[in-house]
Amino acid sequence: MRVVVAGGAGFIGSHICAALIERGTEVICLDNLCTGTEANVAALRTHPRFRFLRADVVAAPNLTADLFLHLASPASPVQYRRLALETMAANSAGAGRLLELAAECGGRFLFASTSEVYGDPLEHPQQESYWGNVNPIGPRACYDESKRFGEALTMEYRRRHGVNAAIVRIFNTYGPRMATADGRVVPALIGAALAGAPLPVHGDGRQTRSFCYVSDLVAALLLVALDREMDGDVYNIGNPHEITVLELAEEVMRVTGSTAGIAYLPRGADDPARRRPDIRRIQGRYGWQPVVSLSDGLRATIAYFRDEAARGVPTGVTEEAGGRVP
Ligand code: NAD
Repeated sequence: MRVVVAGGAGFIGSHICAALIERGTEVICLDNLCTGTEANVAALRTHPRFRFLRADVVAAPNLTADLFLHLASPASPVQYRRLALETMAANSAGAGRLLELAAECGGRFLFASTSEVYGDPLEHPQQESYWGNVNPIGPRACYDESKRFGEALTMEYRRRHGVNAAIVRIFNTYGPRMATADGRVVPALIGAALAGAPLPVHGDGRQTRSFCYVSDLVAALLLVALDREMDGDVYNIGNPHEITVLELAEEVMRVTGSTAGIAYLPRGADDPARRRPDIRRIQGRYGWQPVVSLSDGLRATIAYFRDEAARGVPTGVTEEAGGRVP
């Protein structure tokens, strides 16, 4: 079996590539490295079933595969603001290009969408049937709306060209190999704690998120991706354990032993107040549920951040990340 993993040198993509190689699959990792790094797939580079292809998904070369996984998009607010037009292109034209390739060779297509399609949700928890509450012209629209368009395109290729396709809506995911200074809440808190600085909390910290450890996410994503019987459906993937950002900060302080306290910062525009996936659909079909606890997941992530800091990689909040809680 051959799988094209677009965005395979990114945080989630690199874990997917490794899991597929472990299963005996041939993997073509296609990435333009705009937010990812070859270091994420360094351990796979010499594997005979692994190939790295530096290319933009929008102009992906002719490839045949049994499965096309589209993960190629900047994912953190800092990065998709910096690369707003590129993000829109990756999720629209990039999705179109991979769908075209899938249609040509009879391959399956999986679109990595996001909980951001629900915007600042008026329904809680968010079920797949919810259409969302998205600001179409705000600073997050380049990401949210292009993911929504990518979803629509996926379904249209399925209807028009019979592409076997599915969509997963990923909720906040964290773990080793996530970018250490991209302003997302987990890196920002861990980076500050390791530097002995107060942990940055935007607003009053009562906004909620649900954090899924990357190995749980990868297991769920592959269940959907490798199931050809599952055609034309959408699945939330995330951890329904909902906590406030303040509780997350306290847990990071507990695991790192930080005593530096909290620094309260202004809240970002269109920042969702609540976020929790309803995962009954994927649980019902595959019996999947997350198994890694927040403290275990944080421990592994913090160990990674410590190693990165020791290598001189910046961690924590970058200048441009100020004012945002993804
Ligand atoms: P990431 O930035 O680490 O990975 C994205 C990868 O895609 C990077 O390696 C980047 O270089 C590559 N890429 C971006 N645009 C490209 C293009 N035009 N052509 C080729 N490669 C391109 O982000 P991630 O957190 O691993 O996210 C992966 C996917 O999952 C994204 O589609 C993201 O929207 C989605 N997602 C992630 C989360 C999360 O919490 N991490 C939540 C919801 C959705």
